[in-house]
Amino acid sequence: MVARIARSADEKTNWFASIPFIAMHFTLLLPLVTGVEWKWVLLAIASYYVRMFGVTAGYHRYFSHRAFKTSRPFQFVLAFLAQTSMQKGVLWWAAHHRHHHRESDQVGDLHSPFQRGFLWSHCGWILTKKFDATRFESIRDFARFPELRFLNRFYVLPFLALIAVLFAVGGMTAVIWGAFVPTVFLWHGTFTINSLSHVFGSRRYVTTDLSRNNPLLALITCGEGWHNNHHYHQNTANQGWFWWEIDLTYYVLRLLSVFRLVSALRLPDPAVKYAHLKYTEAQKAVLKGKQLVKKVTFSSPLPSGLAGPSLMPATKQQ
Ligand SMILES: [Zn+2]
Ligand SMILES: [Zn+2]
Repeated sequence: MVARIARSADEKTNWFASIPFIAMHFTLLLPLVTGVEWKWVLLAIASYYVRMFGVTAGYHRYFSHRAFKTSRPFQFVLAFLAQTSMQKGVLWWAAHHRHHHRESDQVGDLHSPFQRGFLWSHCGWILTKKFDATRFESIRDFARFPELRFLNRFYVLPFLALIAVLFAVGGMTAVIWGAFVPTVFLWHGTFTINSLSHVFGSRRYVTTDLSRNNPLLALITCGEGWHNNHHYHQNTANQGWFWWEIDLTYYVLRLLSVFRLVSALRLPDPAVKYAHLKYTEAQKAVLKGKQLVKKVTFSSPLPSGLAGPSLMPATKQQ
């Protein structure tokens, strides 16, 4: 996808700082050394999905959107698990993600494929100096917890802990198959939501971005592929809103709620869920088009008939 906006000086790739990111991709060659066995492949798949749950339930649905409630100890567990994915600190991740929703696909969006191109949206933006710092002003609610500030600062610790455990249990082969290889897939799986989920898929709800619902991406990302649902109404614990919209993260959250580890899972109101059934011809035309709806400011109303609840704070808890 062609960039509309040229990169500024601080948006150029910082190749030196990107060495660990690039080097990690070469670990995909290590199975040539270890050989391939089913037990190692299963370890990689388990490591991918357990940590993808940490990304989606932790970084995304809890810390970015407060889509459910939990205790302070389990909040720490979610943050720790999320950070084993090596996607920087929990406060850094959630603060940047909140910014994405405020500006989604508009000029100010950090990682819209429609502003600075597809590769920028996928991973280009994190390889620059510009977004190194945590935007504490956007995550004050969680930044008040010292243990989260500690994790955020020393964000590599959970990944090192994962490596240590794997090494103790299964030596270097377990580290390769349980940490290195699946982490590369985990990165790109997560990144698809910023890139592919705004490009490929279907649109059910009118939003000020071009977010899409994509079942394949939902399987890869434990439910995050229902991205048009999510941009329409951000803070629901489920992102698959209909029975056929597979959402592994939500199923696990439901299970955890049985054991009272999480509670107050937010769900979409019927008025939100079925809003598309009452769309006007103008709204249907917007859904079919590839044009962005211009959002003047975050709080200002959209053009008549296009407003969706994603621009309003959620009030409903179930
Ligand atoms: Zn998005
Ligand atoms: Zn989100």
